[in-house]
Amino acid sequence: MKTYKYPFYDQSNCIRIGNLLDDMWQVHKYFHEWQRQRYKDDLLYANYNAMDAHFKVLKRTTHPHWHLLPSQAVQQELMRIDKAYDRFFKKLGGRPKIKKQHKFKSITYPGSAGWSLKNNRLTLTFRKWNPKTRKWQFDRIPYTFHKHRQWHGTISQVTIKRDSCGNYWLCLTTTYKDFRPLPTTGKSVGADFGMKDAYLTLSTGEKIQHPQPLKHSLNELRSLNKALSRKVKGSNGWWRCVRQIARLYRKISNQRKDFHWQLASKLCKKFDTIVLETLNLDGMKRLWGRKVSDLAFYQFVEILRYKCGKHKRLLKEIDQWTATTKPCSACGFHNENLTLKDRQWTCPECGSYHDRDINAAINILRAGIAVT
Ligand SMILES: [Zn+2]
Repeated sequence: MKTYKYPFYDQSNCIRIGNLLDDMWQVHKYFHEWQRQRYKDDLLYANYNAMDAHFKVLKRTTHPHWHLLPSQAVQQELMRIDKAYDRFFKKLGGRPKIKKQHKFKSITYPGSAGWSLKNNRLTLTFRKWNPKTRKWQFDRIPYTFHKHRQWHGTISQVTIKRDSCGNYWLCLTTTYKDFRPLPTTGKSVGADFGMKDAYLTLSTGEKIQHPQPLKHSLNELRSLNKALSRKVKGSNGWWRCVRQIARLYRKISNQRKDFHWQLASKLCKKFDTIVLETLNLDGMKRLWGRKVSDLAFYQFVEILRYKCGKHKRLLKEIDQWTATTKPCSACGFHNENLTLKDRQWTCPECGSYHDRDINAAINILRAGIAVT
């Protein structure tokens, strides 16, 4: 499965999508509250079929306006609720939460009903009340989007998203499997994540710095937040400011993602096997705070994992309990006196001079190869 994301062009029809999302949120809220009430009344949990039946009853009786919602998307939303509760009962997740209206951001059309794509134009099927015939009828609304790349494979579902900047996105999920192996290079590499000297230290001795986009935009972010606090909550100026902050956060996240994709791509081109150390992210967050979130190690590992699958590379992760910092990579001597402060050290056994991170990267590579 591969998902392609396209921005909708700014068009007045987008209001319909926004309204649809808000209406779908009503369904979301109603059914979560319904399940909670049932639980309080000592009733059995209502599964997807029961919810769907209840939805049909509501449409006929108290909620006739729900006729205008696309039924496939409603079914998908009910399935989402069912899945959340299923996970909860199996103790895989916490109690399902009711989202706030502005946090309800996407609707999904599974299969091929409710939408059509022709000549790079998306048509969504809404419903409207016809007072003459006194019936609900289909209302097909066309949308244009910026098609910056061609999609491959057949589309299995369509998701429409709204982000916190107020923009709308079209996500096409296709059956296409992106598999383009790169020629083998016969090289392996160990990589050590770091906070201090470099983001990534390779066993080849290369040090890669992180652009740290959040750090660079921090002043701008602070002044925007100050401006926001001066404004009357809910006023036009306040909303403008909220959007501005959301756009800045989106920019930061895009800059970070761009760097991660490029770095992953570079590593995959150069090496056949990449060995990483599993990180203790919670412990690091406690120690370093915001910087860990800005560096986003986990996101990078996820991207690298995807890239390795696509380019037929081997990604290995050694567990965090393997000693990598203290042993000397030349003779294997354990330097127990090493502290976090020592960036460079000389091995008392064999006398070789080490850079702390490069030494660790070499050890990681060795440990990764030893597993196979
Ligand atoms: Zn040594």
